[in-house]
Amino acid sequence: MRALYPGSFDPLTLGHLDLIERAARLFDGLVVAVLQNPSKTPAFSLEQRLEQIRRATAHLGGVEVGSFDGLTVDFARHYGAGVILRGLRALSDFEFELQIAHTNHSLAPAVETLFLATAVQHSFLSSSVVKEVARFGGDVGHLVPEGVAQDLARLFNRSESTRGSDG
Ligand code: ADP
Repeated sequence: MRALYPGSFDPLTLGHLDLIERAARLFDGLVVAVLQNPSKTPAFSLEQRLEQIRRATAHLGGVEVGSFDGLTVDFARHYGAGVILRGLRALSDFEFELQIAHTNHSLAPAVETLFLATAVQHSFLSSSVVKEVARFGGDVGHLVPEGVAQDLARLFNRSESTRGSDG
């Protein structure tokens, strides 16, 4: 069974990586797919996010990295994935995730959504929190893979030095 793990990954965190490592043990193949969402302006370009994931998962067998726009179920079918994998951190994730899972099931009944409970130590972690900490110069070394921490430092040092009146 192959699985698709879709998300924004803007940027990849250790919570995402933990889920990827566990899923790599469960499935014959896993594709981590960055969603190109036209309604969001990401902090990192698609190419940067793909590279961050590639570097962080290089030690794992059976993990591919890709991107898609459009419907997740279409990409799952294209990749031959019988499972869409999502992480659940807290109750607050549940309602939205359930809605998406039911919608995807109505579109593609053969594709199941499976949830993995996030590791306790990463259950407070989100890409937004990481960006917020890094923006104000906090240490994010314990929250993201090393390459991502470097990318965050570069991103916010640069915007710091080019910052205009709009902040
Ligand atoms: P999206 O915009 O699709 O929610 P994210 O990159 O925020 O994209 O999340 C992708 C997936 O990873 C989601 O299933 C989300 O629940 C899960 N996830 C987010 N943060 C963590 C974390 N700290 N630990 C494990 N899974 C997480």
